[in-house]
Amino acid sequence: MSKISVVVPCFNEEEALPVYYREMCRVMKEMPDTEFELLFVDDGSTDGTLGFLKGLNETDARCRYLSFSRNFGKEAALYAGLKNAQGDFVATMDVDLQDPPGLLPEMYRILTEESYDSVATRRSTRTGEPKIRSFLSESFYKFINRISKTEIVNGARDYRLMKRKMVDAVLGMSEYNRFSKGIFEWVGFRTKWLEFQNVGRCAGETKWSVKKLFLYSLEGITGFSVAPLSLAAVVGVVFCMLAFFMILVIVVRTVIWGDPVSGWPSLACIIFLVSGIQLFCTGIVGQYLSKTYLETKHRPIFILKDSSEEAGGGRHEKVSV
Ligand code: UDP
Ligand code: MG
Repeated sequence: MSKISVVVPCFNEEEALPVYYREMCRVMKEMPDTEFELLFVDDGSTDGTLGFLKGLNETDARCRYLSFSRNFGKEAALYAGLKNAQGDFVATMDVDLQDPPGLLPEMYRILTEESYDSVATRRSTRTGEPKIRSFLSESFYKFINRISKTEIVNGARDYRLMKRKMVDAVLGMSEYNRFSKGIFEWVGFRTKWLEFQNVGRCAGETKWSVKKLFLYSLEGITGFSVAPLSLAAVVGVVFCMLAFFMILVIVVRTVIWGDPVSGWPSLACIIFLVSGIQLFCTGIVGQYLSKTYLETKHRPIFILKDSSEEAGGGRHEKVSV
């Protein structure tokens, strides 16, 4: 009998967790021929999330949990979950029911009957989302797909079911600056995409502000493209050519009409513009440098404070960090 591990990152989700668990129980009942493991990753929650997970672990042996020492972010939670999942198939899923658990039986059927290694999901609509947010997201996907060789699918969710070999490939990428949407694409394998309509959260609030999303998109860009680094070179060449042309114009003009002392405002503007561009380019280099700096420190991606393995008296294998 094959086993499906479901990795569920949770950050202050005490309201959504009971609803999610109920829905998952319904789905698991629909698939009696498969063994399940629900691996909840508490990403440093400050509400009753951990307490609820401990309770679940005591009443339902299929539920395991890992708990971080602080909030490390969803990417770290996903990595920790994948690393500790024991199933032959591993799914990653949000706890707020925005990733419908009801799709799991179909996803599992595709992996067992068709020759795919993973089934991923994307939302075909963004209804219910603020307009400005949708616009920023759309622009991000257009931009990154233009400058990156790894295709990042517009509207892709982090909801997918993978075979073990793909999970191992993803775990092989132990980089500190993680951008899962890119990592899943980068490792390759055959992926089938399912579409579904966007649904609102079942309970609680989104943890992603526009600022957090912006920083996350920078993670994607710097993680999967080095094109911005060449921006400085391109802009430099264009400006050199422009400067040569302007010098020529000034020389010719001086020779023909003499040299009236004027034009300092335009000069000041040009200095501002050029120094602004220089600082911008230095900033881009700085972004990559800071990522490299963090990468070379080889810091752990997450730190565990507690887990069901410790509490459950070794019912499962030891947790690796
Ligand atoms: N999440 C997490 N750590 C964080 C932020 C979010 O583990 O720092 C989890 C959260 O509990 C949820 C999932 O990531 O299960 C998606 O978060 P959310 O629903 O807030 O994002 P949205 O769906 O609005 O993009
Ligand atoms: Mg959500």
